[in-house]
Amino acid sequence: MRKLNTLSLIEASEALQKKEISSEELTRACLSAIKEKDSTIHAFLTVTDEHALTTARDIDRRRANGERLGPLAGIPFAIKDIFATQGVRTTAASKILEEYVPPYDATVVAKLKEQGIVILGKTNLDEFAHGASTENSAFGPTKNPLDTERVPGGSSGGSAAALAADMCIAALGTDTGGSIRQPAAFCGVVGIKPTYGRVSRYGLLSMTSSTDVVGPMTKTVTDAAVVLEAIAGEDGHDATTTAKPVLNYRSYLEHASVKGLRIGVPREYFISGMQPEIEQRVRAALNAYEKLGATLVDIALPHTQYAIPVYYIVTPSEVSSNLGRYDGIRYGYSECRMQNAECRNLEAVYSLSRAHGFGPEAKRRIMIGTYALSHGYYDAYYLQAAKVRTLIRRDFEEVFKKVDVIMTPTSPNVAFKIGEKTGDPLQLYLEDVLLAAVSLAGLPAISIPCGKGAHNMPVGLQIIGNYFEEEKILSAAYIYEQTTTH
Ligand code: GLN
Repeated sequence: MRKLNTLSLIEASEALQKKEISSEELTRACLSAIKEKDSTIHAFLTVTDEHALTTARDIDRRRANGERLGPLAGIPFAIKDIFATQGVRTTAASKILEEYVPPYDATVVAKLKEQGIVILGKTNLDEFAHGASTENSAFGPTKNPLDTERVPGGSSGGSAAALAADMCIAALGTDTGGSIRQPAAFCGVVGIKPTYGRVSRYGLLSMTSSTDVVGPMTKTVTDAAVVLEAIAGEDGHDATTTAKPVLNYRSYLEHASVKGLRIGVPREYFISGMQPEIEQRVRAALNAYEKLGATLVDIALPHTQYAIPVYYIVTPSEVSSNLGRYDGIRYGYSECRMQNAECRNLEAVYSLSRAHGFGPEAKRRIMIGTYALSHGYYDAYYLQAAKVRTLIRRDFEEVFKKVDVIMTPTSPNVAFKIGEKTGDPLQLYLEDVLLAAVSLAGLPAISIPCGKGAHNMPVGLQIIGNYFEEEKILSAAYIYEQTTTH
């Protein structure tokens, strides 16, 4: 049998149910992979090994006692360190939360724990999820396991790297403007960003509340379907979640077909400057769909060019508000607790705590956002961005009258070298060029591997669906996955 840590979630789950393996063995295999590789990769900020083994043994005992357990019971997960985990340090990769231990679990974490998952630890990210390379972490970057000189993408780079290095069986990420899809593409794994409101954000340390979504990152499409079903649904703690019923996504995959599927191919997403191999791989995937009976439809999303400027007004604006809670008083790092003599008044407590606690990108976003929201500038920036955001959403609404799904590359380039773009924040912002519009519109999208590009690094195919049609993008992704070896 293969090394246990290399199994997909479904393979591991079946082996557990047939009692061919134990959760303890599976967990130990992942923990030894972490021990062996993570000093190089740095996917994890915290490893909860003892707790993981205790949970695993408990699941094994319950299974031995004949208890009926779900498909996730005993499966080792890596959790992005932006989800509150009760009793386990939760940092958002920021110094300001370096020692923060939440007293409660995020809803998605609580749901997965109820299903019996084993939490291996918390994964690295760009500080507060601001970034596209995991280089903005206050605790140092994560490396791409496929080439350790390159970034894993971001902000969920730790989760993507943990999967690609087989240090976990499945992982959880968040996507505000691409942070699940892009690292999935860079590391050659599957990542799905559900519709805004499909999965609870309660207990997620907020970045941009109007676009933040939680989603699975996995080795296969079927794994993603199973995890999505487990985490989706209405939550009394998050008023933006919907009461729409959660589907049994996996059951859709069993009879998936792309015969007659209308695939929109937006011309604005094959931009100049895109690496030629990316376009080649994605066009080849589109041809494969056509051969399987799908129809390709040339479509236009005319406001695409405004997605980056709009996103980089909306996001800092919401960030500047959301990060206001870290004030050096209530929780998190406090300069006055350090008995700094300069903390003579409230303003000094605020400014010294924040000056020490936040990294450069968080500070940049606080300043841009505060500016965009301030009196006299609000109309010109925030309000204007909000209006154009509506136009971006309408582009998609028009197109979805004619097509079932939209397919594009996930990123215009493969994983770049560590340090290559850190000198210029705008270069990193441009990484979101094929991702931000979907987030602003709140649509679901998945990234799946579709071959290798420059430097033999993975290329991602992005499949975008209409609101709450996760089953359609999962089915389309599944068919492709089944017909290729990527
Ligand atoms: N790269 C984008 C940003 O820096 C997206 C981040 C995210 O999705 N969390 O804002």
